[in-house]
Amino acid sequence: MPTFDFDLFVIGGGSGGVRAARMAAQRGARVALAECAELGGTCVNVGCIPKKLYSYAASYADAFTESEGYGWQFDSPPRFDWNVLKANRAKEIRRLNGIYRSLLEGAGVTLIQGWAQLADAHTVQVGDRRCTARHLLIATGGMPFVPEVAGREHVVVSDAMFDLDPFPKRLLVVGGGYIACELASIFNGLGAKVTQLQRTAHLLNGFDEDVRQFLAKEMGRVGIDIRFNCEIDMITRLDSGLCALLSRGQRVESDAILYATGRVPNTQGLGLEAAGVELDERGGVVVDKHYRSSVPSIYAVGDVSTRQQLTPVALAEAMAVVDALFGAGPRTLDYEFTPTAVFTHPNIGTCGFTEAEARAKFGKLDIFSSEFKALRHTLSGSGERTFMKLIVERKTDRVVGLHMVGPEAGEIVQGFAVAMRAGATKQVFDRTIGIHPTVAEEFVTMREPMPG
Ligand code: NDP
Repeated sequence: MPTFDFDLFVIGGGSGGVRAARMAAQRGARVALAECAELGGTCVNVGCIPKKLYSYAASYADAFTESEGYGWQFDSPPRFDWNVLKANRAKEIRRLNGIYRSLLEGAGVTLIQGWAQLADAHTVQVGDRRCTARHLLIATGGMPFVPEVAGREHVVVSDAMFDLDPFPKRLLVVGGGYIACELASIFNGLGAKVTQLQRTAHLLNGFDEDVRQFLAKEMGRVGIDIRFNCEIDMITRLDSGLCALLSRGQRVESDAILYATGRVPNTQGLGLEAAGVELDERGGVVVDKHYRSSVPSIYAVGDVSTRQQLTPVALAEAMAVVDALFGAGPRTLDYEFTPTAVFTHPNIGTCGFTEAEARAKFGKLDIFSSEFKALRHTLSGSGERTFMKLIVERKTDRVVGLHMVGPEAGEIVQGFAVAMRAGATKQVFDRTIGIHPTVAEEFVTMREPMPG
């Protein structure tokens, strides 16, 4: 039996890697984790956490305006200081980096700072240090992808958006996915004039069609100039900023151009292929249902391998690997009812299938939907509207899709996701007593399916 320096060597200190390292160490495994940057990965440093903080910052703009309908008056208009927000965010992220470090150290994980490369199926090289491990876990996440375009050197990706200097008064966003929509909403709320370009006719590929259309309407209503079926041919720098020449011959001038055109797995330079690890066409690690790669000692979790690039999915996959290696044994995850939110203004919250997916999978459906102005906006003066939709499999009465565009949709849908995971039927929803007056009660009071 060969002896190894460690039972588990984790490459990557983001959500999945830290969770796996900490939980494995707590179960008595000898664990090392290598990270070349700050602990916490994309989520903590340049993703979910700063994004949500900036989303809160943007929401104050509406709150100040809307409060006047409730009797609040300001002697002078509120003023936004971008530098204060950046500094406070940076301080909070440093605090979180520190917490990640102490959680790992507290669990007894050996932290190694540096770029790790596989030497073989059980050996990792980090700088001068060579370590062997019984199992290796690749948790290196992903990175933004920018397509080839003339003038590409002038654009920024989401990683840079939290520290832009100066604040972009005019922002051009390319893409119609999660990141493009969230950052368009945030910078619009913070006071930028935002133009968003999407190459197809709809935002948010993969979301329910009604949700996509409703969100586009709401984003347009608050002043985001969304242009569909539109791409950039060329970008040039002018004295007054950047100029994007669009495929339809139009020009858009801006202070910054964000490309949010998807993310690709971080697998370059890790020595994976030399170690025999199979990669897919996106460069992601191919894994089986227990997250094991084509090399039996090497596992992968999170954005480096998964198709659902979401922090909670990486955490769940990491726990499954730890259970397989140091716990009760292998188990599989069910991805079908993964809830997700898009922190646009208003938010999207969604769980289960879109109407089109449900129709293809289940056949006959009953669709319930509602669009209304929330009570809050009767006095606020805001034109914001809320949209909710339930998709029910007619044969079993099970609620197989639940979608919302509206305030706190992420918070609301998280609760309903438990019911959906438990297989709740429409009858269970109907028997559930609402909480009045809330926006969420609409989900348990929709009685009449849409005709047809
Ligand atoms: P997405 O895959 O969500 O969206 C990419 C967008 O870019 C799409 O609109 C796509 O268009 C467009 N696009 C792709 N290639 C090109 C190109 N060559 N030229 C022009 N447009 C292009 O990626 P994101 O970068 O927004 O986010 C990556 C992932 O991160 C998300 O899928 C999500 O899983 C995760 N994420 C989750 C968040 C959350 O949970 N709230 C927040 C942020 C990210 P088309 O629709 O035509 O394909």
